[in-house]
Amino acid sequence: MKDRVFISDLHLAPERPQIIELFLRFADEVAAEADELYILGDFLEYWLGDDDPSPALKPVFDKLIELSETRNTKIIFMHGNRDFLLGSGFAERCGCTLLGDPARIDLYGRPALLMHGDLLCTDDTEYMAFRKMVRDPVWQQEMLAKPLNERRQMAQAMRASSREQTGGKPESIMDVNSDAVVRLMTEHHVQQLIHGHTHRPAIHDLEVAAHAAQRMVLGDWYEQGSVLVCSPAGCELQTLALSRIEQEL
Ligand code: MN
Repeated sequence: MKDRVFISDLHLAPERPQIIELFLRFADEVAAEADELYILGDFLEYWLGDDDPSPALKPVFDKLIELSETRNTKIIFMHGNRDFLLGSGFAERCGCTLLGDPARIDLYGRPALLMHGDLLCTDDTEYMAFRKMVRDPVWQQEMLAKPLNERRQMAQAMRASSREQTGGKPESIMDVNSDAVVRLMTEHHVQQLIHGHTHRPAIHDLEVAAHAAQRMVLGDWYEQGSVLVCSPAGCELQTLALSRIEQEL
């Protein structure tokens, strides 16, 4: 049986070509050999709407099409807090199936809950209010109706203010709330949770409904790549080195 691989928080952007290269290599060497590729949000650093030509990301979208059409890797895409404006038609054209957040899947006979992870950060009330606004279909329609240039300016302003706010918040507020984790896992009857967003890659053991459970957290792709590789034998977090040459030096 083939592997299922999970990634998130690549934050792909024209400004970071080495991460785009790393993703393309990961697609060829890892994802192409897998059954299913799950992208659990923040695949892109920002997305202004499907009408943005974004030429620097074209090789990425072409690679997704190649994976799904030529290599038979099923691609499942969940929105993050950066790329929530990516539309279902666009996703389909790239060979991806959109998945809601949270989503319960069957992982080799055991259920697992998949999330981007921002919904678990319930202590950050300011962010939760912001999330509610930007996930509102009416707000999204109004946003997408604005000229691309205006959207670009708004997105830059939002990213700057997010950086400012994030910088002033204690670390603990930006991590998941452990009660929220247990509550959601209990509600969905799962002993496995896979998410990203916090950029704190780890596999945590915990207890849910008096049974051993695991929370698997994917890492970001800034200094390296991060991937959770699952097989019928279990799941393992792996790190992808930025470049082979750098590694050899
Ligand atoms: Mn995120």
